[in-house]
Amino acid sequence: MGIKFDDNSVDASGVRDRRGRGGAAAIGGGGVGIVGLVIYVLISVLGGGSGVDPSLLFPSDGSVQSQADDSGDLATRCNTEGAIERDDDCYLVKVYNEINEVWTADFTGQGETYERPALTFFESAVSTGGCGRASSQVGPFYCPGDRSIYIDIGFLAQLQQEFGAAGRYAQAYILAHEAGHHLQTLLGTEQEMRDAQRSSKKDANALSVAFELQADCYAGVWSRLADDAGNVSVGEAEVKQAQAAAAAVGDDRIQEKSTGRVDPESWTHGSAAQREKWFTTGRSSGDLDACNTFA
Ligand SMILES: [Zn+2]
Repeated sequence: MGIKFDDNSVDASGVRDRRGRGGAAAIGGGGVGIVGLVIYVLISVLGGGSGVDPSLLFPSDGSVQSQADDSGDLATRCNTEGAIERDDDCYLVKVYNEINEVWTADFTGQGETYERPALTFFESAVSTGGCGRASSQVGPFYCPGDRSIYIDIGFLAQLQQEFGAAGRYAQAYILAHEAGHHLQTLLGTEQEMRDAQRSSKKDANALSVAFELQADCYAGVWSRLADDAGNVSVGEAEVKQAQAAAAAVGDDRIQEKSTGRVDPESWTHGSAAQREKWFTTGRSSGDLDACNTFA
């Protein structure tokens, strides 16, 4: 049946389109495999464990660089007939709209205010406000410093192929996972986690795993709430795509693929089974409180 949105209008406000001016990649270059670079990211940018000082990666100077916002063309193109079905960027902007709609309603229901994250599209490399310069080789990521989700769509498609995470709803899961990190920043969980990591180096990886699994669970909650609200209706096939994508980026799968060896001690995101389980927990409960992965 595919994915059905409640309407086809696309709101590109909050979207920053910086494609076509990335320049040289900050990390690596020719000859470095995708998997190796993903590992680099898992450990450094997203993980925060493994002896990497998170304060180096997420300096809290609050500096936000002003780069021009080119989302005008995007808004025009994405609001033409068939654009969401045809173009991955329009599809992602639409999912981003639905993510914001769901969390706005949920936060309002709790008497809280939701501030949406920015969504930045880039190619090859990008300067962030607070997370340094990042190469697209790091995969999609969320930067708490400027509260933006960063995605190189071309690279995302490559990753999906490499890890066997097929399907469009797999992309929705990835975006919802990054938006889950945004919720963790809004709710103060990110700061608590960084503080806890600083005070206990030996628990740093376990904390990172719990943090990542919570973002998976939040993605599942979003999937359910969006469905219930009639914003994005998905079928069993789509739920399976999201579950398969969550499993595909499990640390055990990535380690096995890249080094042929599985070392749970070094995990920062959780195993395939854990990631799939927490997405499913979120999806079945539809409740953020069901996502206490730190317990
Ligand atoms: Zn993550």
